[in-house]
Amino acid sequence: MTQYVLPDLPYDYSALEPHISARIMELHHDKHHKTYVDGANKACEMLGEARSSGDFTRMAAIERSLAFNLSGHVLHSLFWQNLAPKGGGKPQGELLEAIERDFGGFDAFKKQLTQAAATSMGSGWGALVWDPISSRLLTAQIHDHQGQALIGSIPLMVLDAWEHAYYLQYHNEKVKYFEAIWNVWNWADIAARFTEAQKSSLNLQFPTGAPATKRPTPTHQPGRA
Ligand code: FE
Repeated sequence: MTQYVLPDLPYDYSALEPHISARIMELHHDKHHKTYVDGANKACEMLGEARSSGDFTRMAAIERSLAFNLSGHVLHSLFWQNLAPKGGGKPQGELLEAIERDFGGFDAFKKQLTQAAATSMGSGWGALVWDPISSRLLTAQIHDHQGQALIGSIPLMVLDAWEHAYYLQYHNEKVKYFEAIWNVWNWADIAARFTEAQKSSLNLQFPTGAPATKRPTPTHQPGRA
């Protein structure tokens, strides 16, 4: 059976200092990410056992575990690629143009994505995604690793808002972490993902309309059922 494998970090643990400490990177990658990889493999193994025995009584719990752990594996793998030493600044070219078109400016986008991550209750992520239905960029606020994900959208850039991503260094001052992370974005990686994502299609026939200029007339008449 195909196994999920923990990818190597594309840089040293200390490469993102002073913005993210080496100790956080080491624990985050070697311990937390690895737990999700192991959990995804374990869930697949349990599905195999269920098929062999014909006993699917634990199906709901296994699927919940698979969704949590596999999504955690994907998000962390993306997060490491999204970051780089000497990163930060702004994207350029096509990605910057799309951000300006879909969010009204880079600063507005930065605020929206940061807020998506920072206001996630409990553990979660903020994400910049490409929606192939409307051909635009959107943000997503993902709970845990999978809740409230936008099905069909392609994640380009993800921001880990779990406490394990910052607490050792920033303690309760998570605002400082959400400021610091903007110094280490790997815009070349995010732009390359944007280029690839635009080639994707869900192969669904969705009508696309022009932006609404006025509210639709309500069909419900006051006083009538
Ligand atoms: Fe994490």
